[in-house]
Amino acid sequence: MSGNAKRISFGRPMVGDLEKQAVCEALDRKQLTNAGLVKQFEERFQEFTGGQAVAVSSCTAALHIAAMIHFKPGDEVIIPALTHVSTAHAVEAVGAIPVFADVEPHDGNISIRTITERLTPKTKGIVVVHYLGKPPDMRAINVLAREHDLKIVEDCALALGAFQHAHVGLLGDVGCFSFYPAKHITTGEGGMLLTRNPETADRARLHRHFGQAERHGDVTHFGLNYRMTEMQAAMGIVQLGRLPGFLAKRTQNYEFLMQNLPGKIVDSHRGAHYGFTLYLPTELNQKEVLHSLLQRRIEASVYYPKPLTSLSFYKKHYFPCPNAERISCQSICLPVGPHLSQAHMIYMLQSLKEILSPSLAALAS
Ligand SMILES: *Cc1c(COP(=O)(O)O)cnc(C)c1O
Repeated sequence: MSGNAKRISFGRPMVGDLEKQAVCEALDRKQLTNAGLVKQFEERFQEFTGGQAVAVSSCTAALHIAAMIHFKPGDEVIIPALTHVSTAHAVEAVGAIPVFADVEPHDGNISIRTITERLTPKTKGIVVVHYLGKPPDMRAINVLAREHDLKIVEDCALALGAFQHAHVGLLGDVGCFSFYPAKHITTGEGGMLLTRNPETADRARLHRHFGQAERHGDVTHFGLNYRMTEMQAAMGIVQLGRLPGFLAKRTQNYEFLMQNLPGKIVDSHRGAHYGFTLYLPTELNQKEVLHSLLQRRIEASVYYPKPLTSLSFYKKHYFPCPNAERISCQSICLPVGPHLSQAHMIYMLQSLKEILSPSLAALAS
């Protein structure tokens, strides 16, 4: 593949004829929201993961619902500084206080040591974000949570298909998934809440629908409209069927980079590789490397470009998180999605080697 070949985007939704046909069929049905296809999508998700699934309009909605179920105003909830802002907003939305913990330098996941440092009598929960699809040691986090009576919410937005002793989302109290276009599967916008606990699933259904068990019935809880449409569910059913193929391709692309690039930060794991994060040698400037890649029509990314503690809105909860800061400013994340062929990967690797040399030798040591 030559330099002027098609652009390598970081993520591209894999939408084909099957999705188009399914959405068109959904449009021909009478009910366009929360009917048979949403239920069917939830059932398929349950079969795939082994938990109870509640389809919602986004991962943010799922996280907000999880917070409504488990936290109240004034509660402190520990979350990693290296995540999507949605993780913190969901906590903030119920009047609870996000308390930022640092991450581990080798895998980008929340550091158990800093969780312990942030504990106070007001701490009521932890939101664990499975960084780029790899769960941290959830047994250890569960031990800590049990000791201090904390709820565990899992932000699985980048981790659909990752397992530890069970599918992610079932390793704590409640899990939240995203079907935004760049994620492992997409419904345009969309999300799923997952739990082992039938009561949590019922509560989630209430919060998804105005706090009401049935239309025109009594309102027993606070709730918003966080429902998924039938068109989204129709697409989700097809996408979920294709997920094993997507994951196999992600693993193949990830392994290719593992074998050929030194200095990665994420270990190999049985998971749902979202991207390949690489520390840059300190003499290289992250923006310049990203720019050089773009000149070769390769779109890399950074997860995440700013720790939440440095965003204007969250400075009020500042805690130093040096590892998160280092990943934000000194790493790049390479795409491994199913839209990339072996030829793309070879081209990306060659380009990167050109850009990084002669620093590459330093990376390996
Ligand atoms: C994408 C993402 C979200 C938000 O998902 P939406 O479906 O867009 O609401 C939340 N957390 C993480 C870690 C994400 O990557």
